[in-house]
Amino acid sequence: MTGYDDQNIFAKILRGEIPSFKVDETDRTFAFLDIMPRSPGHTLVIPKAPARGILDITEDDLAAVARTAKRIAIAAMKAFSADGIIIQQFSEPASGQVVLHLHMHVMPVREGIALLPAQTVKADMDVLADHARRMIAALAG
Ligand code: AMP
Repeated sequence: MTGYDDQNIFAKILRGEIPSFKVDETDRTFAFLDIMPRSPGHTLVIPKAPARGILDITEDDLAAVARTAKRIAIAAMKAFSADGIIIQQFSEPASGQVVLHLHMHVMPVREGIALLPAQTVKADMDVLADHARRMIAALAG
């Protein structure tokens, strides 16, 4: 395993160098919509501190990511009338990880509707903007 590269795309999102559909932020975490969602509301939760994956993240940052993922999951159930939630986290390219800054996928699922394959279709920006608004409203209660 090599080290953390601060030129990865999520590090750029955290620094505000690349736009994102932000839905939530805490002192330790940032959450935004996946631009190639596998289901409506597919959200990524990342630590603000540098970490490639599960192997190098601090326990405190991992706990913070998990806490945010739970809040996102509850909001996504409401915002997308979901029946369940899939959480996924890949560490290292051999596992399927593409972006080497730890991220937890939070994907709302509806009964009988399969997830799209990973990274197939870039969603329409207006649709993502609407989904972000729905998530933000659900997170606000
Ligand atoms: P993985 O590293 O395989 O766990 O997945 C990386 C995820 O990041 C994929 O689901 C991509 O669709 C997503 N992704 C890549 N670039 C961006 C971006 N600029 N904004 C939001 N999501 C992204």
